[in-house]
Amino acid sequence: MMVTAPQLRQVLDDVLAGHRLTEEEAVRLLKTRGRGVWEIAAAADELRERKAGDVVTYVRNQNINVTSLCVNACGFCGFSRKPGDADAYHHGEAVVREKARTAHERNVTEVCTVSGLHPEFDAQSYIDIYSWIRDEAPRAHIHASNPMEVAYAARQSGISTREVLAAMQAAGLGTLCGTAAEILVDDVRKVICPEKIDTAAWVRIIREAHGLGIRSTATIMYGHCESEADRARHLAILRDIQDETGGFTEFVPLSFVHPNTPLYRAGLARPGATGREDLLMFAVARLFLDNFDHIQASWVKLGTKMAQVALLAGADDLGGTMFEESISREAGARDTDYLDPAEMRRMVGDLGRTLRQRTTTYSILQD
Ligand code: SF4
Repeated sequence: MMVTAPQLRQVLDDVLAGHRLTEEEAVRLLKTRGRGVWEIAAAADELRERKAGDVVTYVRNQNINVTSLCVNACGFCGFSRKPGDADAYHHGEAVVREKARTAHERNVTEVCTVSGLHPEFDAQSYIDIYSWIRDEAPRAHIHASNPMEVAYAARQSGISTREVLAAMQAAGLGTLCGTAAEILVDDVRKVICPEKIDTAAWVRIIREAHGLGIRSTATIMYGHCESEADRARHLAILRDIQDETGGFTEFVPLSFVHPNTPLYRAGLARPGATGREDLLMFAVARLFLDNFDHIQASWVKLGTKMAQVALLAGADDLGGTMFEESISREAGARDTDYLDPAEMRRMVGDLGRTLRQRTTTYSILQD
């Protein structure tokens, strides 16, 4: 059932007065069309202003893509390759060290690793990679792996996921990527990523990480074959975890980049979210996730213009400068390589707001 204009105004007034949105209300907001979309965005913008002020943050980071080889074959992924594929790659110690050294020279504060699940990787493989990065870029925070990689490492090494996390932490892991969440609804996961860990495992591993003091991001990948109810369910799961652990640093909506993905080519997904859906994803997230301080607009997924608009709909962070990015590029996104802080400053200044550099965990740094 759609909400009428007076009902919409009432629910937005209630949220601004402290009402916690229900999942059902979130579904209705996510289904809004017409002028109501702007009202929802305006309410989210007001909450953003109260929580984060007029500062928009970014992190100076670099991705190290270690390998494109992956035992899984997620339908939305244009990045993974199988052994024997001509363009598959796997970077060993020398290359990873070299990339980490470059990151160090660039003064990045955060190094991220993004990789497929290499057929021969086990827990020690990840530990080695973090150790090499820590050696070469000792000042950088290592933001790496995700619950799927933790589960894979545990399975390959015959140990528990908690043991993997503890070993990763000892090797230098600072925060865990909250990716592999996609949509935390198993019926959707069966379509888009049948070999990935299920919802319960994702939630368990995130809780374990937070319990060990390893904070993480929280993500959603939307705009493929999920419904508004699936998105709302996903948000509710994240809000519940955050109530319990407080371990999420931010929420990052990832708009599905469709062109080169098997899911889209097989006709199982629509061609990404529309602008209305993007706007509502940010706005409803800001309104619903009352226990999250930060919402990140990923310029890699949205493009810089839509990312700027997301800053008017609840977002307060632009993510990373991203010196090396290939996940979205392989899936068909453009302009994914590097966003200069000067360009971010132009985007943010145009909104009358102020750009500040932050650490991974949102301490503000002097420019
Ligand atoms: S999304 Fe990750 S796990 Fe899935 S196929 Fe791509 S690289 Fe592999």
